[in-house]
Amino acid sequence: MQRAGRLFVLQYGAERVSKGLSLRGGDHGHLYWEPLTGVLVETTAGWIIFDTGMSRRHHDSAAVEQVYRGDLPPGPLPGPPWHLPPAPPADRSTWGLPGDPLVSVLQPLGLTPADLSLAVISHLHWDHTGGIETLTGAGVEVLLHADELAWGRSGRARFEEGFDAAEWSLPATRWRTVDAETEVAPGVTVLPTPGHTPGHVSLQVELAGTGTWIFAADATDLAQNLLDAVPCGSCAGGTAADEEQASASLDLLLARARASHARLVPGHDQVVWNAIRHPPGGHR
Ligand SMILES: [Zn+2]
Repeated sequence: MQRAGRLFVLQYGAERVSKGLSLRGGDHGHLYWEPLTGVLVETTAGWIIFDTGMSRRHHDSAAVEQVYRGDLPPGPLPGPPWHLPPAPPADRSTWGLPGDPLVSVLQPLGLTPADLSLAVISHLHWDHTGGIETLTGAGVEVLLHADELAWGRSGRARFEEGFDAAEWSLPATRWRTVDAETEVAPGVTVLPTPGHTPGHVSLQVELAGTGTWIFAADATDLAQNLLDAVPCGSCAGGTAADEEQASASLDLLLARARASHARLVPGHDQVVWNAIRHPPGGHR
């Protein structure tokens, strides 16, 4: 089996998300602070990043804040108190690292976006695509599932539902697409897990010391999705077939994790993310 070298877990910021978006059947009035996460893997084919968080422009945007607010009244947001570091502001629905969050998250590791050899984007929601413009400027190849790029270009991926075409319509972006499970570098495999969006993918990483890791992104936001085998609460496609795909993707992730004794990591769970934070030299 081919293996990657080191793995670093990244946090670009956090966002207020309703339990109903994360868990099918969940309460839409119950808001969690959910981390904006990424994963960085050192391989013999270079550094590979999985997901890029939200752009500075979106963190600071009144239009984006309005989408998160939905029907909520102005002022402090409702929901349970924040009890985990870092503490976000009470009066906004998102927060992020200073400056360009992608640049800021790489800086402590001594890296810049130009040092990356490939970026894998789980799906086109703006809390995952914020770094594409920076990656485009740095000439880094950006990988998506072909169905996700087609969904983005279908005209059905609407701003009000968390998609910003401006972030993935730059003429200079060096796209690479896959349409099936694909090992993109030794020990790093892109795993199609559609449903949340039509071309959503997860990332499987094989390390020598800690074994198999599977990062589920928005196929499962929270540990509760995995504990109760409940799929994501939101399917962008909006049909019964999309919901069936989301359930099948959850089943695939659970089966894959069982078979490989993997660390299966949900994409937006602050408790899990804090628990797996990497040692100074990364996970090996
Ligand atoms: Zn999403």
